[in-house]
Amino acid sequence: MGGGLLLSKYSVGVGDRFAHQGKPQLQACRMAAAQGVEVIPVWNKSNREHTIIGSTPAGTRAAANEAVRALGWSKPYHLDADHINLKSVDNFIEACDFFTLDVADKIGQPAQAAALRAFVEGHPDLLGELRIPGVAHPFRIEREFVMRVANKYLAAVEEAGRIYRHIEEKKGKGQFITEVSMDETDSPQTPAELLIILAAVAEEGIPIQTIAPKFSGRFDKGVDYAGDLAKFSQEFSDDVAVIAFAVRQYGMSGNLKLSVHSGSDKFSLYGPMHHTLKKFDAGVHLKTAGTTWLEELIGLAEAGGEGLDLAKEIYGQAYSQREALCVPYASVISIDPARLPAPAAVEKWSSELFVSALRHDPKSAAYNSSLRQLLHVGFKVAAAMGSRYLDLVSALENTIAKNVTANLFDRHIKPLFIGGC
Ligand SMILES: [Zn+2]
Repeated sequence: MGGGLLLSKYSVGVGDRFAHQGKPQLQACRMAAAQGVEVIPVWNKSNREHTIIGSTPAGTRAAANEAVRALGWSKPYHLDADHINLKSVDNFIEACDFFTLDVADKIGQPAQAAALRAFVEGHPDLLGELRIPGVAHPFRIEREFVMRVANKYLAAVEEAGRIYRHIEEKKGKGQFITEVSMDETDSPQTPAELLIILAAVAEEGIPIQTIAPKFSGRFDKGVDYAGDLAKFSQEFSDDVAVIAFAVRQYGMSGNLKLSVHSGSDKFSLYGPMHHTLKKFDAGVHLKTAGTTWLEELIGLAEAGGEGLDLAKEIYGQAYSQREALCVPYASVISIDPARLPAPAAVEKWSSELFVSALRHDPKSAAYNSSLRQLLHVGFKVAAAMGSRYLDLVSALENTIAKNVTANLFDRHIKPLFIGGC
């Protein structure tokens, strides 16, 4: 590879719905650096998010640049065109230097017979007993398995190739970081499938630096992991081993690493992930969702007065618009309507009560994951308030910033990248 833009070993994809929290987020990366651990920030925002809010990638770029300037950040930082495809990519070309090619739609679309045959015949290396350093049991891969997996994923990889070349034509080779995402699909990919997918990506000539598979278990937005933790840990570890193997076997980018589209707050995974990263001396890209906006709400509520009133008003509106707000996120949230307090009851809440219901502290009895998820998808309500919301966010900047930084550093960066928690 060489010469081009390279993603560092540890990176964190931060979401910032309203582009007001660049500095406090960057501050969390600065705190990691002060402890000798380099974690590179990547501002990620999907087309879906931009559309709902009415923001633009240029606006995200301006906010990121401003934060970097204000804090004197001299390490790299990036802007991720998150989950783009051929239809949506053009809006992001100029502002972004990181592109997440979402090809989940093409998974399962049968491959062309000739391409399928060529792939299988070109990969006798995948057949038989395959020993991958770091994987406890050798893979036993039959020809039929390679056929089946290739048939399921080749069309998706070819689509990634088309998107990659489209961007390369406009930005130039080596001028951007490429990720391929396959997480927004129904069934998880096994480590053996990941190996076959990587072989296909290498063949397609896409210089990916990260890949986001779908892992076992539920990755709902803004709440902790729900699933078999031991199974996830095994899968994550085997995937890391497979990537190291594919780098050598197929000459892929030496910094290739997993991207975990966490949907934010997968606290219970950080310990096992940290252990694996240390064991393999591997990197990871952790993508979080836009829970920074929830820290804005927490900060508003914590400030009391007008801030608390506005937070309650946003909850009330989100409550009455629940069904419409949830539609775009239906597969990644699980709200129990019976657990949502009536807005009239919330009206009477103290600042402390509101904060403890919303703040993601699973140990706190007052924490309410349904309320949290509803507010998480409720950013459209705040967006519709326009300057009424943003002016108050600016006025209460200090209370909010404290929450944004502590959330990102204490609950994410520290347990995953620094460890010792
Ligand atoms: Zn994703």
